[in-house]
Amino acid sequence: LACLVERFVAENDTDSIPDPEKNVDGVLKDLNIEGSIDYGVTAISLGSTDFGGLYSEKPLAVIRTAGADDVVRVIRRALESPTLTVAARGNGHSINGQAMAHHGLVIDMKSMSHNNTINVNVNSMYVDVGGGELWSDVLKHCVSEYALAPKSWTDYLHLTVGGTLSNAGVSGQTFRFGPQTSTVTELEVVTGNGEIIVCSNSQNSQLFFSVLGGLGQFGIITRARLLLQPAPDMVRWIRVVYSEFDEFTHDAELLITSQESFDYVEGFVFVNCDDPINGWLSVPLDSNQAFDPTHLPKKTGPVLYCLEVALHYNNHDDPFMMVQKLLGKLRYLKHFRFEIDLTYMNFLSRVDHVEEAARGSGIWATPHPWLNMFVSKKDINAFNRIVFQNILKKGVNGPILTYPLLRSKWDNRWSVALPKNEMFYLVALLRFTHAHPTESEINQMVAQNEEIVQTCIKNGFDFKMYLPHYNSTVEWKRHFGEQWGRFVNRKRQFDPKYVLAPGQKIFTRNH
Ligand code: FAD
Repeated sequence: LACLVERFVAENDTDSIPDPEKNVDGVLKDLNIEGSIDYGVTAISLGSTDFGGLYSEKPLAVIRTAGADDVVRVIRRALESPTLTVAARGNGHSINGQAMAHHGLVIDMKSMSHNNTINVNVNSMYVDVGGGELWSDVLKHCVSEYALAPKSWTDYLHLTVGGTLSNAGVSGQTFRFGPQTSTVTELEVVTGNGEIIVCSNSQNSQLFFSVLGGLGQFGIITRARLLLQPAPDMVRWIRVVYSEFDEFTHDAELLITSQESFDYVEGFVFVNCDDPINGWLSVPLDSNQAFDPTHLPKKTGPVLYCLEVALHYNNHDDPFMMVQKLLGKLRYLKHFRFEIDLTYMNFLSRVDHVEEAARGSGIWATPHPWLNMFVSKKDINAFNRIVFQNILKKGVNGPILTYPLLRSKWDNRWSVALPKNEMFYLVALLRFTHAHPTESEINQMVAQNEEIVQTCIKNGFDFKMYLPHYNSTVEWKRHFGEQWGRFVNRKRQFDPKYVLAPGQKIFTRNH
């Protein structure tokens, strides 16, 4: 682990940026693209940085492609070389270098988003978006121009469409509509063979299902068709608190399986203390709301649980009756109900102010050793006892999300690996460091993540990593389990020279 951080520090030293003249070696000479090739220090540093801040791999160049034809040219050029790899970089919000390409080519997907690549079809209720578009821009365009919106979101929207579809894209709407991958009806993909292919459930379906949750291994998504629904005007956003985990899970599971429910269901774990980041103060939704711990039951454990729900409504409606009806079924602690009304756009953009504050205090650009996993419902009680109440009893200096999802809303044909149970919990440890983190602070966080993963393995929990990261084929094989053979066959078919997304460290470039 110390090596990891030493490498983080050493590789962030800009003096060691390679001399382009020496390294490019003529590989990109006469590459006839409409976009541009950038060997500059700023571009190389962008291509070798991500939100996780733990890894850094320098590409030879960052390429700003103007469209799918440029992507084809770049991939074909890589195919002509014996060693060159290509990584699509969405918004670089990966944690472990997944969008990097060591001495390869990084395609800056956001560069394509300047060409009017958000087109709504009102009659058929879909939007065609470029793979490099940010979800925040898709939201703005669809809501402000058409009062329509995609159905399934992530909590934070400054992520690209291609980036989240390569994983899944989960949030509080997933229980109802499935992850973002289930709201896509068509993709345009440039495969590792350098071909542009339009695919869907009924046309080139093998490629379609491979690419969804495919960790960028089979093709670069240059366009996605997403289903739309009418956007509500307003959202009532509510948080209620539990001291008992089984009551929290009972209520969350009731809400995600009921016909009549909220439009958004999430949850998080917080520490039973006054720490402003990890404790009680992380629960109120507005500065005029107070969390009064004197109302907590006498026998309360080291952590508490917050169920977070939201109900859509329109300006002429009053959500009061429906909210009362839905909350009436729940067993939360009566003194701990917090609520606020927001416009739909502000609700979906709710993490923006967190980003702003973190940038202000210098902790947005520091390393983020995040851990995301899916844990089967059958093991979530044991996970609570061992992990939430013990290993994490002091918090992670950031949110600890946990909420249930339904496997039936996910398609087995996608490439994403899931636990076996019909119901499983997302567990997301969204760690922040201090503004000037020491090596040992980062190492401790990474070590604690590893301890949690090892605990799950040792206890035989049915779990999978979400946004997975492994360094060896053995671990990847274990991750995919019985789907490994299918994943390898898909790779052989759509990227036989293993050119794409080398930062995932699943396959090594071959001739
Ligand atoms: P990148 O990090 O740039 O790329 C990720 C991978 O996808 C790489 O392997 C890359 O090569 C590949 N890729 C990128 N674009 C394409 C493309 N067009 N075609 C094919 N492959 C491509 N996830 C959730 O599900 N829910 C959340 O609520 C959520 N919130 C987050 C909040 C923050 C602050 C952060 C940092 C991450 C969050 N994530 C969440 C995780 C996020 O969905 C993934 O990290 C996602 O990959 C980031 O998208 P990106 O555009 O930055 O992709």
